[in-house]
Amino acid sequence: MKMTWNSLPQKSDLTTDQVRDVFSRILHEMGLTVNSLKVGIKRAVVQAEVQFDDKRNVALNYDDYWLNTLAEDEVTAVLSHESCHIATIPDSRIVTFGPTPDLVAAFIEIFDEYLVHTEFARRFRGTRTFDAFSEYKTRDFWSYENILKGVREGLTNPARGLFSILNDAIYFPIVGDRRFVEWCDKNNLRKLPQFLDWLLHDFRLIENLKLERMKAMEIIALEGILSLSVSGQILLTSGDILFVDSAPEAEDALSQKTIELADIWRNRRTGAAVK
Ligand SMILES: [Zn+2]
Repeated sequence: MKMTWNSLPQKSDLTTDQVRDVFSRILHEMGLTVNSLKVGIKRAVVQAEVQFDDKRNVALNYDDYWLNTLAEDEVTAVLSHESCHIATIPDSRIVTFGPTPDLVAAFIEIFDEYLVHTEFARRFRGTRTFDAFSEYKTRDFWSYENILKGVREGLTNPARGLFSILNDAIYFPIVGDRRFVEWCDKNNLRKLPQFLDWLLHDFRLIENLKLERMKAMEIIALEGILSLSVSGQILLTSGDILFVDSAPEAEDALSQKTIELADIWRNRRTGAAVK
């Protein structure tokens, strides 16, 4: 997500070597062994991002202008988050499926964030790093408002806008932080927290299947397609949950592959057993 952080005050000034040292220390403290580590600057494309293969060759790229707007304990928190990516999946490659591969890839990234925040809370709750990350997340709402504006003005694809918000917002219910629900209330997005809870419910279910990564991505892709049966446009404008006309078709098509998820979504649509 792009932010105009140029307008934010500078709070730190770490060199690439220092960032590398901080990141290495975190990996070491988390007991994560890597084969190689490359740290580089990529301005205006990413904020901070790790990429790694299954041999644990890791590349950390970050925008130094952005990183400098974080206090040093926030830098540690953000890099700890990135380390949790390495702790939770075998490699960072995303394989996408179906007729809307970009959206499905974005959806798989939401699932990955779910894994990471769960891991982050497990490892860091009660520490300064956890609190610093929580402070850092205050910034999210500014970016959500921009996305919302884009969707409401017809400039942003609603499903893409929805997934962008949820990619960051999934943090809040995982750690039991009410700020997202409060923000939704304030912006008349009454049912958005419920939609996010549905995804969270299904992500837990998928995680508990303990599938190998490729199989998991396939199931998450199906979950993503089922979730697209809810109109992102309505969800982000009037705040209601409305299933599109093609929802039953999607459920039928996917019920052969994942009976449970298709049934769960059908029940949500028909109100049979709304969680
Ligand atoms: Zn992440």
